[in-house]
Amino acid sequence: MYDAIIIGAGPAGCTAAKTLSENGYKVLLVEKFKLPRYKSCSGQLIKKSLDLVREYFGEDVPDFTTCAPAENRGMIFTDDKGATFRFEQYGLNVWRSTFDNWLAEKAAKSGAEIRDNTSAISASESGGIVTVTLKVERIYTEQARYVIDCEGAVGAFKRKLLNITPQYILTFQTFSQGSIDLDHHYFYAFLQPELSEYDAWFNVKDDQLVLGVAVKDKSKIESYYARFISYMEKNYGLKIEKQLKIDKWIMPHIRPDYTINYGVGRVLFAGEIAGFLNPMGEGISAAMESGHHAAVSIINNFDNPDSICSDYKERTALLYDYMKRQWNLIARMTDTFNEMKV
Ligand SMILES: Cc1cc2nc3c(=O)[nH]c(=O)nc-3n(C[C@H](O)[C@H](O)[C@H](O)COP(=O)(O)OP(=O)(O)OC[C@H]3O[C@@H](n4cnc5c(N)ncnc54)[C@H](O)[C@@H]3O)c2cc1C
Repeated sequence: MYDAIIIGAGPAGCTAAKTLSENGYKVLLVEKFKLPRYKSCSGQLIKKSLDLVREYFGEDVPDFTTCAPAENRGMIFTDDKGATFRFEQYGLNVWRSTFDNWLAEKAAKSGAEIRDNTSAISASESGGIVTVTLKVERIYTEQARYVIDCEGAVGAFKRKLLNITPQYILTFQTFSQGSIDLDHHYFYAFLQPELSEYDAWFNVKDDQLVLGVAVKDKSKIESYYARFISYMEKNYGLKIEKQLKIDKWIMPHIRPDYTINYGVGRVLFAGEIAGFLNPMGEGISAAMESGHHAAVSIINNFDNPDSICSDYKERTALLYDYMKRQWNLIARMTDTFNEMKV
């Protein structure tokens, strides 16, 4: 019997596992894939993420998790009319597989038991105990007083639990050898509606040029991507010598009327699956912060389950306000996100 089973070893799950286990709680962290697992991501840790790592994990992000150029100097947005806005801020450029694996190791050092290659399939609650069905090669169950679901955007576990169909944005990015007349230390977002149905972006990881587009309709990926590549060739001298990798993923589609799902019964949601996601897909800081607060709410109300969700909601109120302010800022910058104005 565990005090908590955490589903998913991303930033939300690792932070929740670390917070609970370092406070003496018996924690099982399950991860669907073999660790270190791959996660499609630009891997930009903004200053807030770096500060949260220091606060929750007790040290700075280690050099071995970074890729070149290690320093990210901020973001440069091009709005729907072609005007650029610079946001200068120190950050880091990491490979998510290495960074997230380091977070998982830190959680393990604090006492969390980690089982990778293990999927959480379903859960049922009875008499104050949650029974979680897990699958490796066989199907078996484990029990806990609480579950924190940190499974990220895909959300099969939550979908089964709540019987809901979430809305997604599809992301498509390529990694290539080549050259471009842009400073590799920045993350570039392009909000012109002719280039994507959400945003298009460029950044560099270990000399690989990463070019991506986000769409609502899967069938439009190729045409938007082709338009984005010609735009980059024409405006920034992009030259692709060899395409190395293609990467497709999803992220929650944040709408003006979105709500955060805090939890149901003894199951809490944290990170992307709860709905925490900042504009341009910046979600690592929100994942760590919500994972931490979900864990603290369990610690503070362990024998008082009816108070946990409301406590968690209160603890994340500032995070939610921050997220709304960020969306509002983007909405004021560009008509593409006008609907997000609050
Ligand atoms: C293309 C792209 C670029 C991005 N760039 C950035 C960026 O530069 N900076 C930034 O801050 N954010 C970025 N994000 C967003 C960021 O990746 C997410 O917001 C963040 O990873 C969310 O963390 P999480 O812990 O909630 O989920 P995840 O990191 O997705 O972790 C969830 C984990 O749960 C596991 N899992 C899923 N289902 C189960 C199950 N049933 N049982 C067991 N395990 C399960 C998954 O395998 C995964 O390891 C980007 C996203 C995309 C798609």
